[in-house]
Amino acid sequence: MHEWAIAEGVVEALLERGRREGARRITRFTLRLGEIQGVEEELLRFALGELSRGTPLEGAEIRVEREKGRVGCRNCGLEWSPEGEREEALHFLPDLLPLFLRCPRCGSVDLEIRGGRGVWVSSLELER
Ligand SMILES: [Zn+2]
Repeated sequence: MHEWAIAEGVVEALLERGRREGARRITRFTLRLGEIQGVEEELLRFALGELSRGTPLEGAEIRVEREKGRVGCRNCGLEWSPEGEREEALHFLPDLLPLFLRCPRCGSVDLEIRGGRGVWVSSLELER
């Protein structure tokens, strides 16, 4: 479900930007997608397509770049991107990190997520 809410926010922001810049069409844009956000790309693309019908955004080429989740250790300062099933745990249970992960250097469970959250537009091409 949250793909639709995200798509709505993205479409609104893009159209607003287009209006400000006097664009006739928005032809292409790039989304950065934090992996921890747990967004299904196919669904997000579909929602974006539906919501941009009849707007200057219709038919725009959508590129998606993914940003890996990053975890930082508050004890020793190490920062890393967990892999495999530990990475999966990041997507669904960010508040339960200490149950799934410990710092590979010092063994601490005092960890925080430092990257891979959120969705934002990183580039945009317009036609005036
Ligand atoms: Zn550590």
